[in-house]
Amino acid sequence: MTQTPKPKKPKSKRRTPGLNREQAEELYARLAEDRPEPQTELNYSNPYTLVVAVALSAQATDVGVNKATDKLFKVADTPEKMLALGEDGVREHIKTIGLFRNKAKNVIALSQMILDEFDGEVPQTRDELVRLPGVGRKTANVVLNEAFGQHTIAVDTHIFRVGNRTKLAPGKTPDEVEARLEQITPPQYLKGAHHWLILHGRYVCKARKPECWRCAIADICKFKDKTPAP
Ligand code: SF4
Repeated sequence: MTQTPKPKKPKSKRRTPGLNREQAEELYARLAEDRPEPQTELNYSNPYTLVVAVALSAQATDVGVNKATDKLFKVADTPEKMLALGEDGVREHIKTIGLFRNKAKNVIALSQMILDEFDGEVPQTRDELVRLPGVGRKTANVVLNEAFGQHTIAVDTHIFRVGNRTKLAPGKTPDEVEARLEQITPPQYLKGAHHWLILHGRYVCKARKPECWRCAIADICKFKDKTPAP
């Protein structure tokens, strides 16, 4: 009688464990030391212009958005003025930004909704913010943090990368990374966390070639393929 071969156990992929609380705290302490008062690099003058700037920044650089909003916000820094400018006028101002046609439509629609449903004020809850056309969870989190001082963390491409490389917040989706960051980030760093991580990703832990040799958190980071000094 032939024996049925035992099914092979799948090889377990060894995962590098995530950072512990002390390591996370030290990581933030060092990033905070580098940039004690981190701020968004988008220009805005009130919660409304922040919502518009963040909505425009999807798939565009902050520098590019600032160039366009510099003139746009001079003529329209409230929902009323934006509606008076009209979709064609908005489009004209933002035509240097990717997806400008769709974004112009959304800016007009979200301005109308802010006036009709929120008495002209930008709402202060995530559930309300994501109802605005063109505003997703990430934009809502940026606005809640930046304009209203709430402890939200908006996971963009930079934070997603830094969270996974360092193992501060490993996750397969932005939502997973966000949940892990909320759990591991010490309370005193929650307000600044997303700025520190974005700026670190933008200027040091770059997508193609992270500059590990000059990274302030290299000894804490668990990324295996660190870039050697040039
Ligand atoms: S050591 Fe390298 S991979 Fe790790 S956070 Fe710094 S730049 Fe990024």
